[in-house]
Amino acid sequence: MRLKDKVALITGASSGIGRETALLFAREGAKIVVVDVNDKGGLETVQMLKDKNQDAAYVHADVSKANDCAEMVAFAENTFGKLNILFNNAGIMHGDDGDAISTEENIWDLTMNINAKGVFLGCKYGISALRRAGGGSIINTASFVALLGAATPQIAYTASKGAVLSMTRELAVIHARENIRVNALCPGPLRTDLLMNFLDTEAKKQRRLVHVPMGRFGEAKEIAAAALYLASDESSYVTGTEFTVDGGITAAYVTPE
Ligand code: NAD
Repeated sequence: MRLKDKVALITGASSGIGRETALLFAREGAKIVVVDVNDKGGLETVQMLKDKNQDAAYVHADVSKANDCAEMVAFAENTFGKLNILFNNAGIMHGDDGDAISTEENIWDLTMNINAKGVFLGCKYGISALRRAGGGSIINTASFVALLGAATPQIAYTASKGAVLSMTRELAVIHARENIRVNALCPGPLRTDLLMNFLDTEAKKQRRLVHVPMGRFGEAKEIAAAALYLASDESSYVTGTEFTVDGGITAAYVTPE
């Protein structure tokens, strides 16, 4: 087992990448702290793990709120005795997020508060816990849009993911000698609620797929597999990376017919 006796806190674990990662990490021996604002989904994830006799607990936390982040980390340590892996994965893509002219200030603020400040707050409180455990791995979910511009704009989302990527690099450098590794995951377009709700017509979905060399959306499971590598000791010399798992989208200039 690749995460035997580790404790992992995963934000946004009520669905999508977060849930699939919770299921995979638990299979590899980790105890899981499921964090979300969607209590129903979070409790379902915990139940799925408990049904397999795996250790898991749910705590409600809004990652854009400092108190909630302090409490989720305290919950992890109080429940399982330590924290080894922090997966800052929660994020939103708002339907009213468009170009600079059409996007309202409140959409910008909401998106930045959850997607970028949420990662900062996770680290603000989580790093002390990782130090107490003798080190660990932090994984921050960015996106391929941190690396490429899109003609179907989502200006706040894109800016928030750029912030996650640059913040990750700096965190990696600062904490490198404390046995704390920090990496960004850059998924390509995935078949999860987040993107399928945003690309809400078949035409929009096909428009996005034009750019993906593999010609399909990725699956949350495929991102969970990458998160497992970054969480485990197999990536012991990997820190500060932008780990792309994107069906080739960032490599493509023209995609095959
Ligand atoms: P998802 O919508 O299935 O999961 C996101 C989860 O985050 C949800 O359970 C939601 O309730 C939770 N969440 C939202 N706001 C929160 C808050 N304030 N506090 C705590 N939890 C909150 O989407 P997903 O595709 O699994 O997305 C996970 C991450 O991957 C996000 O950061 C997203 O931006 C990123 N990502 C997704 C794609 C994609 O195509 N789906 C591509 C690149 C990156």
